[in-house]
Amino acid sequence: MTSAPIPKNELQRLHLLHELDILDTEPEPVFDQITAFAKDLFEVETAIITLVDAERQWFKSAVGFDGQETPREVSMCAHVVAKGATMVVNDASQDPRFHDNPYIDCIDGVRFYAGVPLEMAPGLFIGTLCIIDSKPRELTQQQQYWLETLTDWVRDELQARYAISNYEQERHVLAQGPVAAVVWQVEPEAHLIYVAENAERVLGYQADYLLDPAVRYESIVHIADQRELLSRMQAVLDGKRETLEMDYRVLTPTGQVRWVSHFAKADHDRSGRVIRVRGYLHDSTKRKNLELSLQHANQSFELALSAGNLSTWDWDLTAQQVKVNHTWRELLGRNKSYARDNAWAKLIHPDDFQDARQALQSHLKGQTERFEARMRIQHADGHYLWLHTIGKVIERDENNLVTRMVGIHHDITEHVQNEQHRRQQEAVLSLVSTVQHEFLFVKNFSEVCDTAIPKLMALTESEFGLVGELHDSNSRARNMVWLHGVKTANDEEKNAAFQRLIQQGLDVEVSGDVIQTVLIRGEPQLCPFPVQAHEATFFPVEMPEFQNALIMPLYFKRNVVGLLLLANANDSYQREQLALLEPILNTLGTLMHIRRMDEERKSAVDELRKMATTDELTKVANRRVFLETAEQRLLEYQRYDTPVSVAIIDLDHFKKVNDTFGHAAGDHVLTQFCRITEQQLREGDLLGRQGGEEFGILFLHANSQQAMQGAERVRAAIEAEDFIWEGKNIPVTVSIGVATLQATDNDLDRWLARADRALYEAKAAGRNRCIAADEI
Ligand code: GH3
Ligand code: MG
Ligand code: MG
Repeated sequence: MTSAPIPKNELQRLHLLHELDILDTEPEPVFDQITAFAKDLFEVETAIITLVDAERQWFKSAVGFDGQETPREVSMCAHVVAKGATMVVNDASQDPRFHDNPYIDCIDGVRFYAGVPLEMAPGLFIGTLCIIDSKPRELTQQQQYWLETLTDWVRDELQARYAISNYEQERHVLAQGPVAAVVWQVEPEAHLIYVAENAERVLGYQADYLLDPAVRYESIVHIADQRELLSRMQAVLDGKRETLEMDYRVLTPTGQVRWVSHFAKADHDRSGRVIRVRGYLHDSTKRKNLELSLQHANQSFELALSAGNLSTWDWDLTAQQVKVNHTWRELLGRNKSYARDNAWAKLIHPDDFQDARQALQSHLKGQTERFEARMRIQHADGHYLWLHTIGKVIERDENNLVTRMVGIHHDITEHVQNEQHRRQQEAVLSLVSTVQHEFLFVKNFSEVCDTAIPKLMALTESEFGLVGELHDSNSRARNMVWLHGVKTANDEEKNAAFQRLIQQGLDVEVSGDVIQTVLIRGEPQLCPFPVQAHEATFFPVEMPEFQNALIMPLYFKRNVVGLLLLANANDSYQREQLALLEPILNTLGTLMHIRRMDEERKSAVDELRKMATTDELTKVANRRVFLETAEQRLLEYQRYDTPVSVAIIDLDHFKKVNDTFGHAAGDHVLTQFCRITEQQLREGDLLGRQGGEEFGILFLHANSQQAMQGAERVRAAIEAEDFIWEGKNIPVTVSIGVATLQATDNDLDRWLARADRALYEAKAAGRNRCIAADEI
């Protein structure tokens, strides 16, 4: 019994197999249907979908065979996987590879076997679809074609599963976020076809409930908002509007009212018809309640005004004197003298002075009912209080000039601060949903940061902001970051320069304790002091000096993935701002993670693809790719008469190179040979390794004469090149056979065989030369 050889790309093959995450999973109807169908179609006893693991072959689906797996050593399918081609064994008991296999050398043992490899990525075979019988049989060409078609089906199912599982992983991450996705199908009438798991968190209803065709979505919406939602939704479904953005109330099953912020966007088919509407839902109850409590606070403020205990002033314009009451003096910590000689006017904050004066003038001119202003007035301690003041003219002289005016002050400092805080919270929450929406649509994290940074700067009155992303959040080396969205206030030229740097993939080395602390310990840093010069080397040229800074870690599930830096605030930063910004920090961290997962997946697939198409040692196209391309050229020739030639190159006396200088020297020669040869090729030509020290070149658009020139260039370049190994010069020459495709070459074998013959002639004639097939 001969065990199957281990494929060259075994590691990648196993990696892919495990990525698929299918080993030891439950049976699935689609695979069972395929095996049952194969059994009936070919009238065999057994049909199996096998997956060949490091030690065993495991059966995803088997009909007519008891058991879930067998060892790899005795697996016939492992031979199919190693060969990467269909294998048909008419009678295994007569086959020297298998006759003593325990599954064959027994009563009712296997006689007939036909297996087709499952190729999941170019050159990567993970298992087979095979049919087995205990009587010897034959497989017609037509039947082999069918077996291969069924195998394609298995492969497509597996690939779809893989795509879905990746998609699900991503969705799973989104499902932990605060935005829930839903999809409406338009035909035959609008109905929900997808509701994300986390919809329950946002809406209070389970996805299954909402997907029930008997449940209309609007039935969960507050009656007062239903009509507007329906009409806006209709406008999107009818294609009259591209998007919908609306806040409405939802009644949860437990009777609570929740505010939901709803963003929806239409998908179109090729003819521009709306086919689907994707919606994103976010629980905006918190934000709405803030808005409502703000209104409420305003109302109670009006009430407070009309109540007692107010500070009052009485202004005699003729005498230029102001009388103030006791409460006024208490409030501002001042004695009577400040009320005299209009000295109080100097207590107004310079930023508020103009507005207050304007309001006063208007009233004095009789243009307004009353004088009303909000302004900051300085307390004796030096700090400012926010006062709301209302006044009224009560006396005029015979010329109608104002002689007396009275008024009240009310301390609204706390109210103004709360209001500011609420506004900021609201702005942060709305930024969170903007950022999420934008990411879902543009999928570009840098663009998201370009939107977010200016808003965060405005919010914190900063003059500088950026987002940094750690290269690899799992590694312990935390000294490199990529930058996104670097912005400086009011300097468009500088911002354009940053933008250019970032587009080149700007990454920077981190130095300095403050930033290291954020990245390593994950603790935010509040720096009310100028950040030291050496910290600034963290940044490339043209960054401003930091007078103060707020540097905060971005997290995904306890791992620091990056940082947000804001600098040069008007006043310095406050600890409360950390809590305020938390939602946006979480959001940016999560999006960073999603983006990275997506990229890692893409680059893994690219790498696998590359490995499967190139020769490991020389990095030129492997034999399979070379032959496939040759086949393609043959078709082009047959259809469009495009001239093409092939050259087969064999290194002369290469065995001697190995024998004299060692195998490593031989490998070096092969690699260097490829680099030199590539330099001689034109756009469209392909160099491939046929095996051992034999290579092929496909010369595109080359007739016999042109191909011979090309081959001769290669030969001469190799002869002229010094191949140096450990200080010694290895003499290297090549022999080349060239065959230009002609009408009588009706298949690939015939064409290549002519080139091989020419090569043989070149060897026989003394090596180091090119011979064309049509010269023999
Ligand atoms: P000829 O001029 O007739 O082609 O003589 P030759 O010695 O080149 O021909 P032969 O086919 O006898 O020897 C080819 C040698 O190439 C034998 C094999 O050990 C060596 N070889 C094949 N693949 C590799 C490889 O990947 N690396 C190294 N170092 N040697 C290889
Ligand atoms: Mg040779
Ligand atoms: Mg050879």
